[in-house]
Amino acid sequence: MKKMKLAVLGTQASGKGTQSHILSITMGVPAVSVGDLLRELQEEDSERGRTAKLEMSKGAFVDDDIIMPLLKEWVAKHPKGWIIDGFPRSVEQAKKCASFFHPDAVLYLEVPDEESKRRISYRRICAKCKTNYNLITQPPQNPKGVCDMCGGELVRRGDDTPELVEERLRHYHEITEPLKAWFDAKKRLILVNAKSSIPDVARDIQLKLEEFMRAKRGARKFRTWLIVAVSVLLVVAVTFTITGRIINSR
Ligand code: AMP
Repeated sequence: MKKMKLAVLGTQASGKGTQSHILSITMGVPAVSVGDLLRELQEEDSERGRTAKLEMSKGAFVDDDIIMPLLKEWVAKHPKGWIIDGFPRSVEQAKKCASFFHPDAVLYLEVPDEESKRRISYRRICAKCKTNYNLITQPPQNPKGVCDMCGGELVRRGDDTPELVEERLRHYHEITEPLKAWFDAKKRLILVNAKSSIPDVARDIQLKLEEFMRAKRGARKFRTWLIVAVSVLLVVAVTFTITGRIINSR
């Protein structure tokens, strides 16, 4: 698949990270999750690290003053293409990052809230290296049930408690969901029903992306032809006018 710049949005546990990882391999571009960038930042002994930790422990959004420079720096390092999962989370954020964030398309993964909660209850993360697992769809291969990468203990994410999940879903519907209409108006939106299995969703995404790119190429070709046709008409009209004036003046 052609290298692209893709934003992947959607409900909690809709599979944004998993599908971003698959796309990153098929497209050969790096993928990043803003949530993971922030979890890394939490380990930093700094004011912004502590602030991010506090906001995330409440299930709240982390301040734009922390997110924007983090993401701007990451985007600048990957000019040829990227996949960004979990950004933007609000129309306000989308407006603020307009100078450096120009996705070719925005994948919007949707699952009902009940499915989201069910999936979150099976989600685990390595306490050491932060690799993500799901006890049903992506369990560790290690028979001891520890991390395949580093042998670390698998734990629930601090913000995956039932209360915080409710809070995050409420935030999502109120603040993030309006981005659907925002990106649709910009003709960038690709809606994906993410309720089925991981390979089925991956196939659906691939088909929809190819269809999206075909339509975009078609529209570009049509615009080029329109410009050529209008230019030719203008040249003909000007030539006729000038010729007519020369003939009349004789
Ligand atoms: P995620 O791993 O995508 O579920 O994100 C985990 C947490 O990181 C969220 O609940 C927020 O606290 C924070 N976060 C992730 N992305 C953003 C963003 N674009 N803006 C603000 N906060 C974010």
